[in-house]
Amino acid sequence: MDIKAAVTHGKGEAFKIESVQLANPEFDEIKVKIVAVGVCHTDVVARDQGVVPYPIVLGHEGSGIIETVGEAVTELQVGDHVVLSFAHCGHCTNCLTGHPTVCKTFNDLNFGGAMEDGSHRLAQDGQELATFFGQSSFATHAIVKAKNAVKVDPEVDLALLGPLGCGIQTGAGTVLNRLKPEFGSSIVIYGAGAVGLSAVMAAKITGCRHIIAVDIHDNRLSLATELGATHIFNSKNVDVVAEVKKITGAGSHYAVETTGVPEVVKQSLHALRPLGTVAIVGVTPEVTLNIQEDLMAEGKSMIGVVEGDSIPKVFIPQLIAYYKAGQFPFDKLTKFYEFDQITQAFADSASGITIKPILKMPK
Ligand code: NAD
Repeated sequence: MDIKAAVTHGKGEAFKIESVQLANPEFDEIKVKIVAVGVCHTDVVARDQGVVPYPIVLGHEGSGIIETVGEAVTELQVGDHVVLSFAHCGHCTNCLTGHPTVCKTFNDLNFGGAMEDGSHRLAQDGQELATFFGQSSFATHAIVKAKNAVKVDPEVDLALLGPLGCGIQTGAGTVLNRLKPEFGSSIVIYGAGAVGLSAVMAAKITGCRHIIAVDIHDNRLSLATELGATHIFNSKNVDVVAEVKKITGAGSHYAVETTGVPEVVKQSLHALRPLGTVAIVGVTPEVTLNIQEDLMAEGKSMIGVVEGDSIPKVFIPQLIAYYKAGQFPFDKLTKFYEFDQITQAFADSASGITIKPILKMPK
């Protein structure tokens, strides 16, 4: 069928909304009418840094309604509301032990440009288009593997839910699935963007005593307070390590680093107490550390976390239940744009005006 999609023709090129052809779903796939799709920093990386093949249709925080199911799909039905999450194989050791975010083929399936068997579902004038995160949801319709689609509560506004498939589950899952801070412990969240603020809300759910948010934008820090931060610091104005130690005594038990800035990575380690743990979530270039002083001597841990170590079919419905109960108000991070405002949405995300833009597809 003919659909509309935002095509990225080459590295760093602008999105162009164009007609493209979408194949029918294979036996284990579904066709989804996309209702809305979140804009994430990872789309920017894919558009600008040549980490994916081109031409490609980006978009990896889609939500929508199932229009067609392949013949082997039994768990999902036409009309179901779904959130699309990252692609994973489902049969490697990491998937089978509950860690699909580190699926052995995660990079190939999400950034390699093709479906698991190397085939494509999108084409334009006879040329195959690469797929992204197994969904390519900057489009009116998408074909995805049923295993990567999460059935969600139809009572909740479906247009809001796409970001749960990546940015929001990354921040919340890093705290709830991986760090699991004890009641009464302290945590510092570096970066109050979509990922960091989701970590703040999750830290409040766990009962952390000190939830310290650090950013360089005061408006984001104000929102962090509204969402549960007990202390906020603009790192342009203060010595963050000293401030964290003043509040916590020996330093924080935990930290989540989402800025991807090497100096902040070091700061996050220095502000930990002995035996503390920092989870690195931001896409970060090379950092030089003194392993002896920064890490080993005080028994600290630095761990990488992908997608919040989530099992999306378990975790996303849990987050929606917390949202319905008023304990996870992630809608406060979002702003809706029409699909043809995609360039504006990315510009507002880059300038910091909007924390989590969501593109609504034409009805
Ligand atoms: P974002 O740009 O909205 O948030 C980053 C925040 O860091 C911003 O608020 C910015 O003001 C702040 N910041 C920048 N420099 C700073 C500094 N020196 N000190 C303090 N704060 C500073 O991005 P996001 O959507 O929240 O994503 C955060 C990162 O996580 C990105 O690198 C993104 O690519 C990555 N990400 C990783 C995963 C994963 O699975 N690990 C998943 C999604 C996103």
